[in-house]
Amino acid sequence: MTGAMSDTIKARREIAVRRGLEFIYRTACEPENFDAYGFDYTFCLHWIASTSRDPALGRAARRMAVECARRWREAHPTVPEDADAETVAQSVFGGLTADCLGLRDAAFRREVRRAAARVSAEDLLWFDPAAGPPPADLPAECACGELNPRGRKTCRGCRRRLKWQTRYEIWLLAIIRSYLGERYGVRLGAGYAEVIGWLPEMRPYPPLARGYDDFIWAVYAVTHVVYTLNGYSTYMLSPRWLPEEYQFLKDSLDTVVGLDDTDAAGEVLDSLKSFGLSDRHPLIRKGVDFLLATQNDDGSWGDAEAEDIYDRYHPTLTAVNGLRDYAWTQRALVFPELAPELRRWARGLS
Ligand SMILES: [Zn+2]
Repeated sequence: MTGAMSDTIKARREIAVRRGLEFIYRTACEPENFDAYGFDYTFCLHWIASTSRDPALGRAARRMAVECARRWREAHPTVPEDADAETVAQSVFGGLTADCLGLRDAAFRREVRRAAARVSAEDLLWFDPAAGPPPADLPAECACGELNPRGRKTCRGCRRRLKWQTRYEIWLLAIIRSYLGERYGVRLGAGYAEVIGWLPEMRPYPPLARGYDDFIWAVYAVTHVVYTLNGYSTYMLSPRWLPEEYQFLKDSLDTVVGLDDTDAAGEVLDSLKSFGLSDRHPLIRKGVDFLLATQNDDGSWGDAEAEDIYDRYHPTLTAVNGLRDYAWTQRALVFPELAPELRRWARGLS
């Protein structure tokens, strides 16, 4: 085989991507799945629809996304004034995506804004980015369902020993929510700049040797630094803007492939592509070969026995994203005003 990716692999990639897309949509058509994850299904399909280089793939995904957005709007005509954090966050996800797909609803957005103002940053983002960095001592939800305050080692409800969440998981949630809120014009606990502003604190990113949880959540946090700066694959990024993140993703691909983790591998791949790595790069080839070798018979990726449908469609989405080509034409930031900050951080300043 020569330097370029062979036509055979290109053709196999195209078929694999189509089968993956069809799996995602097929499961979105099950009412039970859509009730639980309709906002995310719509978001994922819109992501593929709006950024694919292959026009036929983009059109197919758009039809599916619009149909999902219509169903989501029908099921969510209003937002209760006393909506909890999860409902508010899902309303931002779904409302923003439906708007982007042409199903605009300004009244709904006003309701989301009102409801969001009544929920605290701690409820929406698990910490207050204005008060300090993502905490290292926030207990994960206890098996008994109790939520415990920062610093506790045993559950105040049942006395079980508590596990603390990694800072990277907490940061990840805040990155996603503050970004979507900002795009929608609704403040979700903090502005995006406040959340991304903790980036220097989160470096250096931990390798697997420092523990699985820290490593894998750092991978997802960094891929989402990429997504929220490149507008979910709208733009390419310069490695000079995010040198440590770029290096960490390059170092991590082998590791997640070794862990047989398609979900993470797909995200690392499309993130690396947005930094300009081409199909010819050995890392991209390795990731593509891995994904092509691990697709399930039903077109999905990941554990085919998983009970939660999220664990079926999400790895399928990330594998599709890892395999497909993008329509980006330029290097740019969604928030160009962050460029001076990124330059400072790249020089090791905070
Ligand atoms: Zn408990």
